[in-house]
Amino acid sequence: MNEKVIPYGKQDITEADIQAVVETLQSDYLTQGPKIKEFEEAFADYVGAKYAIAVANGTAALHLNCLALNVKPGDKVITTPITFAASANCIRYCGGEVVFADIDPETYLLDIEKVRELLEASSKGTYKGIIPVDFAGRAVDLEAFRKLAYEYGLWIIEDSCHSPGGYFIDSTAQKQNCGNGKYADLAIFSFHPVKHIAAGEGGMITTNDKGLYEKLMKLRTHGITKDEDLYENSVEFAGGEIDYPAWYMEMQDLGYNYRLTDFQAALGLSQLKRADEGLGKRRKIAEKYFNAFKNQKFIKGQSGVIEGHAYHLYVIEVEDRLGLYNHLRENKIFAQIHYIPTHLMPYYRQFGWKEGDMPHAETYYKHCISLPMFPTLSDEDQEFILETIRIFFE
Ligand SMILES: *Cc1c(COP(=O)(O)O)cnc(C)c1O
Repeated sequence: MNEKVIPYGKQDITEADIQAVVETLQSDYLTQGPKIKEFEEAFADYVGAKYAIAVANGTAALHLNCLALNVKPGDKVITTPITFAASANCIRYCGGEVVFADIDPETYLLDIEKVRELLEASSKGTYKGIIPVDFAGRAVDLEAFRKLAYEYGLWIIEDSCHSPGGYFIDSTAQKQNCGNGKYADLAIFSFHPVKHIAAGEGGMITTNDKGLYEKLMKLRTHGITKDEDLYENSVEFAGGEIDYPAWYMEMQDLGYNYRLTDFQAALGLSQLKRADEGLGKRRKIAEKYFNAFKNQKFIKGQSGVIEGHAYHLYVIEVEDRLGLYNHLRENKIFAQIHYIPTHLMPYYRQFGWKEGDMPHAETYYKHCISLPMFPTLSDEDQEFILETIRIFFE
């Protein structure tokens, strides 16, 4: 009998991470200091985007993106039902209307054909944007979404929370990293402890658009800027003679306090240094699951070995899902279900969403189960998981 609990996901904190946090705690800045910029630059470099904006969490990143893109009450935005609720909620924060489109049952990702059907069935301008999600770590083909978005004048926010380090291959055979800003207007990441890079809480927005970058930098901190070039009031008003005085600042938009602290940035930065190593381990774990079960019929959808997959989750689909879930729990293996379709959450049912609206997402939900997947999962523990699953199927 296995005595320790094996969770589905878990952070990995090293001595170097602890030192990085301690050093920052002993420095002059707990927040609004130099670690933020350092983390932003390193992260932008990691995903291959021009700009990065560190924020309090992934949900704040989504909210700020909707504000920066001017989502207004009644604006319709399309997203997938198989994601964490925040991917849809951000539209509601701005009063917009969430329109769900079904997933592709093979990739579990937002089905571009379903999105196209929605767009074709209404007049141009009805929809404002699309929020595709790199679900479980599998990169969305954003090149295809961009083409569609151009046709209909839509923006794209890529929810890359599951996929730092993930990529897809575009039509010119180029690797396109998740969050690199080439096809999406904006992308977001989360540093919650179950995600690839842990900072306790934390988030990042990436983009190649300078205008959006400047807007987001203000919105993250109350809509305030200290950049002289952006000031709207005159020097005289500000109380200066030739130049703006040093105390001067302007609140230009209704922003929030969605800042990350410097000690969280220090932890994120330290973790980022090991991101590729962690990704390599995740891919090895996925390969081992796949090789153990490749002839079983529950190996489908995303459970293969997929190029560019960042393996935030390793999902299989089984007939007796509750049975397997309980059997694993009895052996202290805490598998998890990702996700209960968002459109069937009581909050979204009030807008008329109901069973049968998203058949592929709903069928997927009945069978999906995410097996433990995190870089420090030992060979021994994975063997135990494999054996426990084998016993269940015998
Ligand atoms: C974790 C997650 C979020 C939200 O991130 P938080 O940092 O927890 O606010 C949004 N979307 C997806 C797909 C996520 O997995």
